[in-house]
Amino acid sequence: MSSVQIRDVRKSFGNFEVLHGVTIPIEDGEFVVLVGPSGCGKSTLLRMLAGLENITSGTISIGDRVVNNVQPKERDIAMVFQNYALYPHMTVADNMGFSLKLRGAKSEEISTGVKRAAEILALTPLLDRYPRQLSGGQRQRVAMGRAIVRDPQVFLFDEPLSNLDAKLRVAMRTEIKELHQRLRTTTVYVTHDQIEAMTMADKIVVMHDGIVEQMGSPLELYDKPENQFVAGFIGSPA
Ligand code: ADP
Ligand code: MG
Repeated sequence: MSSVQIRDVRKSFGNFEVLHGVTIPIEDGEFVVLVGPSGCGKSTLLRMLAGLENITSGTISIGDRVVNNVQPKERDIAMVFQNYALYPHMTVADNMGFSLKLRGAKSEEISTGVKRAAEILALTPLLDRYPRQLSGGQRQRVAMGRAIVRDPQVFLFDEPLSNLDAKLRVAMRTEIKELHQRLRTTTVYVTHDQIEAMTMADKIVVMHDGIVEQMGSPLELYDKPENQFVAGFIGSPA
């Protein structure tokens, strides 16, 4: 677990600035949800937290460490994407253990990590199966298993549920929330679904065109939206 500080972060692709100075303080153990319309810069910000995109200006710190120039695999972060492609030729156990293997973990360490993650996610009976033998929800749990197997300081989720049907989405939302209550890992969760944001977040950050419009608890945003955009997005009358 760790706090994350995003300070005045800007990002340009060529001459096109997509983030115009974003500041988001995130406390140790907090579940922060980034919302905003498509194209507002949510994924770009998450990719910068993961180290997959460099920062044009500003700083990102994890714990006490400024990570601007730290490579992805040296950051203690795990990311779950929308398109969580599992390795089709590997069992569930091997899919989950792969990131530990890549980091040079010993085989006992890998199997301990996989067992722990499998228990947390109720995947123990499925460890020998292949991805094609799993339902959509089970595959999504394996994708989460790959992330939690390392017990990272920070989880990043980029619209992890948007490819699931409505019923499964609600079930997985509850599961992710319970996982957070159990592990208390600092989490940054991107969605464009207001209900997901309202039900999951300790703190919601509303983004729009590369800036933060407002941040606060779900109740604060619902009760006191600071402008028309936030009011419209959160769905309360302005
Ligand atoms: P969101 O996740 O909120 O939908 P993104 O962060 O994916 O938004 O994109 C923000 C903006 O940055 C969009 O206008 C997108 O086209 C642009 N963008 C994202 N990645 C790149 C890239 N690698 N090169 C150029 N433009 C990009
Ligand atoms: Mg995105």
